Amino acid sequence: MQTLHDPRQNHIIAALPAVDFGRLIQHLELAPMLLGQVLGESGDQLSHVYFPTTAFVSSHYVLADGASAEFSVIGNEGVVGTALFMGGETTPSRSVVHGAGHAYRLKKKIVLEEFHRAGPMQRLLLRHTQSVLTQVAQTAVCNRHHSIDQQLCRCLLMRLDRSTSGELVLTQELIASVLGVRREGVTEAAGRLQKAGLIEYRRGRITILDRAGMEGRVCECYAVVKQESARLLGGVRTWAPTTRILEPLLIRPRSHGVQLSSYTCECVD
Ligand SMILES: [Zn+2]
Repeated sequence: MQTLHDPRQNHIIAALPAVDFGRLIQHLELAPMLLGQVLGESGDQLSHVYFPTTAFVSSHYVLADGASAEFSVIGNEGVVGTALFMGGETTPSRSVVHGAGHAYRLKKKIVLEEFHRAGPMQRLLLRHTQSVLTQVAQTAVCNRHHSIDQQLCRCLLMRLDRSTSGELVLTQELIASVLGVRREGVTEAAGRLQKAGLIEYRRGRITILDRAGMEGRVCECYAVVKQESARLLGGVRTWAPTTRILEPLLIRPRSHGVQLSSYTCECVD
């Protein structure tokens, strides 16, 4: 079956008025996003921003001893690369694809032109940035005050919301690095969720069996982030497939099978 790609699968792109979308379409490049692909290392000068359509991207900070914790995950509701248009150019964090799929990307020059146009794109990017700040703040509170079970539910639900399937590719090592906890704690928490019939965990793949049950166990942080995102980007049009297939410029990834410290990634394109 042929996959239908359209930049309007991303909510920010979908929210652009027709005239703005028409101006940008020639610059939007379809980019495969491979599981484990690093979009930006700490201190990197960004060359593009990415508007995920079916992929999602985790941003986290890696400590000197290799330990890490995630502070945001962004899928088709947003954009990866805020430092580029906010003027800071770089960040100390790392952005890695945690959900394989696709994104559309825009070159730095085009993004900055659109941002300084002070039109709809600027308003959408700023609102999305505020939404990400909420996610970062809530994650800090969550990591300090809520149980690993609750954090695991939040982590899984946020990924499920941004995934195109009910199955997530997540090793226990990766979950531990996302939450910034010991692997043993993740094993115990995942075991409890599985015993309760909420998830099925097998060979690095997690299937969500009972979403309502997960929402019943998750802490308030999940709803705070989701509601704030809806408030800030509310009214954004969602995209529906049409018979018209756009023919984007396909970007080939530079490498496959990226080796990360916590797990071995697989090529799934
Ligand atoms: Zn929480």
